[in-house]
Amino acid sequence: MKSLLIVCDGMGDRLTNGKTPLEAAKTPNMDYLAKEGICGIMDTVGTGVRPGSDTSHLSLFGYDPFEVYTGRGPFEAHGAGLELKKGDIAFRANFASLKDGMIVDRRAGRDEEGLDELSKELQDLEFDGVKVLFKRCKGHRAVVVLRGKDLSCAVSETDPEEVGVVPNRSKPLDKDPKSVRTAQVLNKFTEKAREILDKSAANKKRIAKGKFPANIVLARGCGMEPSIQSFEERYGIKAACVSATSLIMGVCKSLGMEVIEVPEANGHVDSNIGKKADAAIKALEKYDFVFLHIKGTDEASHDGNFAAKTAMLERVDKEVIGPILKKVDLKNTTIALTADHSTPLRLKQHSADPVPLVIFGDVRTDDVTKYSERTCAKGGLLRICGRNLMGIILDLGGKSKLFGA
Ligand code: ZN
Ligand code: ZN
Repeated sequence: MKSLLIVCDGMGDRLTNGKTPLEAAKTPNMDYLAKEGICGIMDTVGTGVRPGSDTSHLSLFGYDPFEVYTGRGPFEAHGAGLELKKGDIAFRANFASLKDGMIVDRRAGRDEEGLDELSKELQDLEFDGVKVLFKRCKGHRAVVVLRGKDLSCAVSETDPEEVGVVPNRSKPLDKDPKSVRTAQVLNKFTEKAREILDKSAANKKRIAKGKFPANIVLARGCGMEPSIQSFEERYGIKAACVSATSLIMGVCKSLGMEVIEVPEANGHVDSNIGKKADAAIKALEKYDFVFLHIKGTDEASHDGNFAAKTAMLERVDKEVIGPILKKVDLKNTTIALTADHSTPLRLKQHSADPVPLVIFGDVRTDDVTKYSERTCAKGGLLRICGRNLMGIILDLGGKSKLFGA
């Protein structure tokens, strides 16, 4: 038996004019899964806990985020393709623009000109015996990794997350000498980077063209590379991930999953999700467990765009679930469809509302015939916690271990 877990990021919602986007959307294929499967609702991290996408995915994969999660940075670094070592400190970073000491644009005008060149100039820096690894990601984004002895994540961020202010100096958040040392190293890096970027020909070119300079690196989202048991060690199965979102790819990489990249996919509402479905279907030939992540639903939710979210759900139904129902060996595959959290349109941010869940396979069915938050709440799975999902999926796939004699 194979397993396919499909997560539509931020899919769960509340009511807009009496309906959730899932209720308003035409989703015949999802409804088929609901009719032939078993439904429920799920608190991905815990009841009343408002999850981030990283903590919720850890939980969906059966890990306790309260135990293993230290911050977003390491997952972004994994997503960017950096190999981290235990004890490394990682930050998400932005190229930003500074004028007269003030931040004038946090994203360097979202202009990528010269950023590769500037990234090259930030390689091989070292302060107080701590190596700094710098890697550019998509757009204005990057990751900064500190590698050395006696580092700590209890330091404040250099990114004030607003414009018209001076950049923050990192401060230790406790009295531990490790935190003092880490804040010092981050400040030394920030100052040195500023000096290098200011002098760079790439920035002179940008300024000559009237563009914002990319003359400072702002860091946030600190996390220490955790020691997490790999997915294969934990469950004894080989797993692959299909996602276009670096944070989610990073979570999967840190669990030792194979990450399959689909060049046509971009993680937005206009992503080529059909190609992702194809990649997931193909991956099922080789892997026991395939995880397919779709981001567009969350993007539309953060924009508060009902029409875009509904349209995205209809696209997922037609371009992802439809082909999966046609092409996957349904007799030998357990399929679960859910979200990592709700992102209600009205809030434009994540909420603790439980998400809908359907599991299709060799299951006891229930009376639910439509896939949505409210109909799934009447299903046979009732209300479960995200950390229990893997156990259910593995058991249905005949891959659970007997507890007791
Ligand atoms: Zn999410
Ligand atoms: Zn989100």
